[in-house]
Amino acid sequence: MHNISHWLDLHDLEQLTGQDIVAAFHSKAFAQSLFEKNVLGEGDQIRTALEDQQLVFQTIVCPALASGFADTNSARQALNQLKPQTLDAGEHRPHTVATGVGGQPVVAMTWAGGPRDVMCLAHEAAHGLQVLLSDRELMPPVARETCAFIGELLLINHMRQCDPVLFQSLTGIWKQQTAQYLGKNMDDLSFALGDMLTAYHYDLNYPFARIASTQLFQRGSGDWIDRLFSSGADAMKHLPLDVMANRAGDIPNHLPPMPPSDAAHPAVEAYRSLGAMALLDIDHWHGECERNIEDYYARLLGHLHDRTAFLVLDEARRPAGYATWIKTPSGQLEITRQAAPFGGYLSLQKSLERHLADRGPVSACHPRSARQEQVAW
Ligand SMILES: [Zn+2]
Repeated sequence: MHNISHWLDLHDLEQLTGQDIVAAFHSKAFAQSLFEKNVLGEGDQIRTALEDQQLVFQTIVCPALASGFADTNSARQALNQLKPQTLDAGEHRPHTVATGVGGQPVVAMTWAGGPRDVMCLAHEAAHGLQVLLSDRELMPPVARETCAFIGELLLINHMRQCDPVLFQSLTGIWKQQTAQYLGKNMDDLSFALGDMLTAYHYDLNYPFARIASTQLFQRGSGDWIDRLFSSGADAMKHLPLDVMANRAGDIPNHLPPMPPSDAAHPAVEAYRSLGAMALLDIDHWHGECERNIEDYYARLLGHLHDRTAFLVLDEARRPAGYATWIKTPSGQLEITRQAAPFGGYLSLQKSLERHLADRGPVSACHPRSARQEQVAW
């Protein structure tokens, strides 16, 4: 792997998807904190001894990691095969080495007995676990690091109850490291995605892996962890990168609420709808607002007249999106436009499905949409 273009291929990722995830990150789509509650109670401060690496591995890291798996026994058996040891002279970075078939994967790192080492041990042990549960089939690096980051989160979550003091330190370390992954590393990745010939560096894997791990972790317990860790070369299918990219358009809806609907004055209603659609178009990515205004007005008015336009309001009655459709000569309905500039594509789609139910097959046509993957039903 030489440059970012190879990296995208390896991860089965489009350049645009990568750029959308970066944009979603910058619009604070993933900003919610996993660890905002202060759980430190008075008088229940336990201090776990951390000097002995083997003991920490057996008594803290193994139970913490195994607790996240639906099949706890398989996870425990795999963890028991791992061999933590200290780095050889001259080696710097902690790493996990998968020795040949039947051999024990070795987790190599320095050990000074601090919380940072415990975190590192959980990270590397999660790599070992992912290697063994995938039958040593190689995972693309973003997926590999996502597994390791999930290992860190399992550790932190486990310590919440077991040792609130250690939990507090681990949380601090996690936030510090996140600042690095989503700061410098994200900037580098963002630059690289703009220039396909940028040289590959392993650190470019961390930003998406960090976000993916937190997004996945919020699902709570379930067998998704088992499936991800055992997925090997197929691992990218288990990461929510498309969902992350789709949040790129999520910006707060700044439109004022519509007044309650007024069946007694249909013309006023129609003009309100027309105004709302125009406002939505002005905010839409590839705007209809670039069209000749007379054509634009005539087209929308025609749709309103034919009752082939549909406006969706959000819970505060603000215009959130609209769609128009035509009837093809074969009698089929074809959606000609779906605009939801504030990210409400799914609710527009759902409302539209309800609105057009029982009218036969519906197809979609997106001549200028930036989101071509929108499908009809
Ligand atoms: Zn790693």
